[in-house]
Amino acid sequence: MKKINIAIDGFSSCGKSTMAKGLAKELGYTYIDTGAMYRAAALYAIRNGWMTEETMEEETIRESMGQLDISFRKDSKGNQNTYLNGEDVESEIRSLEVSNGASRISTLPFVRSTLVSLQQKMAEKGGVVMDGRDIGTVVMPDAELKIFLTASPEVRANRRFKEMLDKGENPKFEDVLHNVMERDQRDTMREASPLRKADDAIELDNSHMGIKEQFEWALEQAKKIKSV
Ligand code: C5P
Repeated sequence: MKKINIAIDGFSSCGKSTMAKGLAKELGYTYIDTGAMYRAAALYAIRNGWMTEETMEEETIRESMGQLDISFRKDSKGNQNTYLNGEDVESEIRSLEVSNGASRISTLPFVRSTLVSLQQKMAEKGGVVMDGRDIGTVVMPDAELKIFLTASPEVRANRRFKEMLDKGENPKFEDVLHNVMERDQRDTMREASPLRKADDAIELDNSHMGIKEQFEWALEQAKKIKSV
């Protein structure tokens, strides 16, 4: 059967990756976490001192884009990890500092165009489930299935808060909520491909839905397309 491409967009901590991973596994497709790519770019800039909480050296970041090698590899348990210039940075890119950095670096048009080209190459052959902010609108405007996820900021912050507690971190709920709202603001207000629902995307508010219920809903949507 023909392999389609699936785009999943939405706000931060909306459950996009959980849905995308579940669909990819079920359909035997490749999952591509575009947020991880912006996170890896941010980590590179932070490590080199080009981005601090207050500053961002745009020109130096622009000149360094050619040195960025971002890829994904599966580990022995089948988990997909993000690699930056050959190094596994999967856990380092999930910190609040890098989340914030990714949100800021993703406003730079040259960062977006570099990563978008890479993402389009990854999706060339079909059979991809990709999640992000601009997948249905910019990266894969021709994707056969487009899903746009939403949930209230409080629900999303609470999910993220619990994830961090589970990892043994000790965050303050107010900080997590503030981070979610700040990233929403930057994602929707930036000039370069702001977050918006593609006209042909199906919207799902998952504030009051469990993971299984969302997965079944998404699989149903994919099956409808595959049988067209
Ligand atoms: O999805 P995730 O939270 O990991 O993404 C990290 C940051 O990267 C987001 O806050 C968002 O600003 C940015 N991003 C983006 N476009 C994408 C994916 C992520 O601007 N396609």
